[in-house]
Amino acid sequence: MPLSKCPRCEQMFNKQNTLICAKCQPNEDEDYEKVREALDEQPNMTPEQVAEVTGVGIGCILRLLDDGRIAAMPDGESRIKCGRCGAPAISLSKRLCEACLQKLNSEVARAQATIKLQKKKKVEVGTAMNIRKWIDED
Ligand SMILES: [Zn+2]
Ligand SMILES: [Zn+2]
Repeated sequence: MPLSKCPRCEQMFNKQNTLICAKCQPNEDEDYEKVREALDEQPNMTPEQVAEVTGVGIGCILRLLDDGRIAAMPDGESRIKCGRCGAPAISLSKRLCEACLQKLNSEVARAQATIKLQKKKKVEVGTAMNIRKWIDED
C-alpha cells in the first residue's frame, strides 16, 4: 500500500482514497463544515479570505478545493500551490509562496558563498583552464 505523509499531522499513513489520515479525518470534516458555512454566507471569498474568516489552514482549504468538496473560488492564481509547503504560490512559474521563496533565496545565497569559497581554493586550476581556453580559442 502506498505510504503518504498526512498534511495535517505529518504522520505517515496508508494512502488509499483519502488525502489525509483517518485520525485527522474528523478534524478535516469539521474544517470543511466551517469553510462551507463561511462560503454560504460570502461565496465570493478567495481561499486566503476564507482561511482568515474561518481560522482553517489554507492548505486544508486548497485540499477541499482540489477534492471538489467546495466549489472553485475566484482568484485562480491562489489555487497554485507552493511546491514546498502547500500554501498559495505567488506566481504560476515560481510555484513557491512568499515565505518559501525567501527561504530559497537565502539557500541559494549560501550555496553561492560556498561555491565562491571552493573557487578560491581552485584558483590555480581555474587560471590554468583559462589559459587553455585562450589557446583553444586562438
Ligand atoms: Zn493526520
Ligand atoms: Zn511555501
